[in-house]
Amino acid sequence: MPPNRPLPRAITQKQLLGFWSQVDRSNISGCWEWIGNITEDGPYGYGNFGWGGHLRRSHRVAYFIYTGRDPGNLLVCHHCDNPKCVKFDHLFLGTQADNVHDCFRKGRKVSPRQTLGQIFPAPQEKGTPTLNFERVKFYL
Ligand SMILES: [Zn+2]
Repeated sequence: MPPNRPLPRAITQKQLLGFWSQVDRSNISGCWEWIGNITEDGPYGYGNFGWGGHLRRSHRVAYFIYTGRDPGNLLVCHHCDNPKCVKFDHLFLGTQADNVHDCFRKGRKVSPRQTLGQIFPAPQEKGTPTLNFERVKFYL
């Protein structure tokens, strides 16, 4: 993943208004979704906000707005797993490892135990599958 471009050091009142005009805050208890431009990552894209001459991910800009800090090379992760969400208490700062751990905890990624099919491949018509016992010991 390329390093994140540094954010500008300050955001103007006009830019703030532009940011919030692209957020649906009607859901008081749920997510505040970005309704402006979205990255082209399919239906699970992130919000894009033009700021300082570049498009920025809206949830990262939201983190800056709430904290006054550029997340830098850290990730701004979603408790709610909704990439379009920019609500303050749905975001948390983490490393790539934190994000992967969070994915496993929420069952969004295949856990090592679920890769047993890769360790024990279905019998082939010809020959006998060979087990890699080092990997088996690791996963079981
Ligand atoms: Zn949310």
